[in-house]
Amino acid sequence: KPVILWFRRDLRLHDNPALNHAAETGRPILPVYILDEHGERPMGAASRWWLDKSLRALDAALQERGSRLILRKGNAPTQLQALIAETGADVVFMNRLFEPETFEYDAEIAHTLKADGVECRGFNGALLCRPGEVLNGSGQPYKVFTPFLRALLATAEAPAHTTGPRQIQTPKTVQSHDLDSWKLHPRRPDWSKGFDWTPGEDGASQALSRFIPSGLKTYAKDRDFPDRQGANSRLSPHLHWGEISPWRAIDRARQAAKDGKVSSAESDKFIAEIGWREFSAHLLHHFPYIAERAFRPEYDAMPWRKDDASLKAWRQGRTGYPLVDAGMRQLWTTGWMHNRVRMVVASFLIKHLLIDWREGEAWFWDTLVDADRASNVQNWQWVAGSGADASPFFRIFNPITQGEKFDPDGGYVRRWVPELRHLPDRWLQSPWTAPAEVLRDAGIVLGRDYPKPIVEHEKGRARALAALKTVSGRG
Ligand code: FAD
Repeated sequence: KPVILWFRRDLRLHDNPALNHAAETGRPILPVYILDEHGERPMGAASRWWLDKSLRALDAALQERGSRLILRKGNAPTQLQALIAETGADVVFMNRLFEPETFEYDAEIAHTLKADGVECRGFNGALLCRPGEVLNGSGQPYKVFTPFLRALLATAEAPAHTTGPRQIQTPKTVQSHDLDSWKLHPRRPDWSKGFDWTPGEDGASQALSRFIPSGLKTYAKDRDFPDRQGANSRLSPHLHWGEISPWRAIDRARQAAKDGKVSSAESDKFIAEIGWREFSAHLLHHFPYIAERAFRPEYDAMPWRKDDASLKAWRQGRTGYPLVDAGMRQLWTTGWMHNRVRMVVASFLIKHLLIDWREGEAWFWDTLVDADRASNVQNWQWVAGSGADASPFFRIFNPITQGEKFDPDGGYVRRWVPELRHLPDRWLQSPWTAPAEVLRDAGIVLGRDYPKPIVEHEKGRARALAALKTVSGRG
């Protein structure tokens, strides 16, 4: 009798606990991926793009080991039951997902299969610690990042690195869907031409191997500068899809520090960022309502504006603020945006435009290749001031000075907003302040070649602070 290995967001063969346990049985393995959009929020378009390539990579890796990936589509318990009926399998191995909806759905699936005499065995391959494992002295979930991180690193135990079985025996007769028929890759129009990524396990390990010897050395200093190539690992989509274990990234960073190749301050900073991913998963698990509502309930009374024209300008990168527009265009073109710029564009939407953070979260969900329920919600609420350990609402990023500080040579803005490329640095982040002859020399007519600001910085700021007073009495 074969066993089922149910892949979800653990699309790798190395360091995969479910695969290792399935292999230990010594029985044939049926690796299956089920496209089931019932159990969780439907994937965004950029995620569908990524999944398409990642499944191809996983299938190729399985084929190298004598196996292949079986694809099914539809309700997961029904598909698993069908596979069980076809093959006589009586155990399902899987790595758990910890978003509340998925977690509950998994429990339901285990229950259904148990009634048929099939056992579900779940493992953790996604996080350093399962949500719920890290609690404070009184057994309560941490709400502040720093003590959470300290407890996380004290609790988490690094598993041994594994490569998975060299040969995986899979019955030949089981039918699989054709991946092309899932139409995960966009057709008309194909907006993904600027997506420069290598989804899959090899791509993940290449990204890590590129980053560790170069970017990690100056990570703490350079990570906030969107134009510094290689300063960030770009591991986020790979981590989201489970193409690499977070342990692998941490072990490599620690090893580099141990070998004296980077200072431990740099390696600790990188590990702390991975800690934010854990903290996000932890918060969403313990406070599932934050997927939809403010962690601090008073913020749900914020007098959000409905302003479709401004929302559209924000999405399209036509707000008139070069750093904001550069970020939004980088997102649309590549499926990713630099973290510092994510904070600035999110703050602009929430505060300058006073548009509900959920609108921004939904756009990111659709367009980011690393779109992740927990990290996305946690970060949007961080910016909105409504999260657990959030930046206070009254701290309003100034998109002009943020640009001057973090894109001092203007390389980032010029790359993504090429219509401004001839504008000298002094006016690049605020083109409307440039004298008429400077604009003329740069070949720019504001309002024609590049928008005028859709909201004046000081006015937007004052409106946001007034809105804050209505909900919190603070300001
Ligand atoms: P690096 O700087 O190399 O960091 C290493 C890893 O640490 C990342 O791959 C990521 O897994 C983790 N990490 C770093 N910063 C954060 C953070 N603030 N929160 C959680 N994890 C972090 N990240 C997502 O993975 N998915 C999202 O949907 C997402 N939405 C965001 C929305 C907003 C408004 C903001 C401000 C940030 C969001 N982030 C999200 C966090 C962060 O911007 C990305 O993780 C980071 O830019 C990814 O690039 P990197 O892999 O080069 O990061």
